[in-house]
Amino acid sequence: MAVKGQQLYEGKAKKVYATDSPDYYIVEYKDDATAFNGEKRGTIAGKGVINNQMSNRLFALLKDHGVENHFVEQLSERETLVRAVRIVPVEVVVRNLTAGSMAKRLGLEEGLELSRPIVEFYYKQDDLGDPLVTPDHVEVLGWATAAEIAQMQSMALCVNEVLGAYLRARGVLLVDFKLEFGRLKDGTLILADEISPDTCRFWDATTREKLDKDRFRRDLGGVEDAYQEMMRRVSEEES
Ligand code: UDP
Repeated sequence: MAVKGQQLYEGKAKKVYATDSPDYYIVEYKDDATAFNGEKRGTIAGKGVINNQMSNRLFALLKDHGVENHFVEQLSERETLVRAVRIVPVEVVVRNLTAGSMAKRLGLEEGLELSRPIVEFYYKQDDLGDPLVTPDHVEVLGWATAAEIAQMQSMALCVNEVLGAYLRARGVLLVDFKLEFGRLKDGTLILADEISPDTCRFWDATTREKLDKDRFRRDLGGVEDAYQEMMRRVSEEES
């Protein structure tokens, strides 16, 4: 069992700790929620527990489908042992339907089905509000190599296939989501971070009710209930 060492990092929703092994970290999920680049702050009661469990369930599913990721073992309600990586400073977003920043930027209504999934890159830089960048920016500015970019694109599309099918069977539409990748010491690129209602848009497939962080971002109410409902759906056998 890994021993929790010093805190290495505190983000908006998680803390990361060293362990007694340089190859592993412990992540601890918090209830803190932020939106609009930190302008809106709050807490979502029980979110950390749900995001920890949900991410671990989905990372295990992805591993079964050949998507290498950082998940090792859940240690407690809020803590998980993960493989130590250096995070690539780009957020990889996959979209199946228009929503959020894409809908806003292009003047499109939300909920339009895209003819195929779109993969986007955003530079992880809070001071700049995480700007949208092209694969050329990512490569030329040295954030990832051309081979790594191709790998992130194909892994992101694979995640979309696996999660999309899993959620469809549970009455949930996977609208869009954000992934982060990291490098192991030997340079191998694996999926990291989290997969939760904080980082995905989940809509009920029938009613299109939002079951994700948009309820917090947009003051729609029922935030905790939506997170709980998503956890219930993810835990469910196929319906
Ligand atoms: N997303 C995220 N972290 C970010 C930005 C976006 O997890 O810093 C997720 C968001 O939850 C959604 C997808 O990525 O599922 C696409 O988000 P979008 O670009 O529409 O940005 P938003 O307007 O939601 O910030």
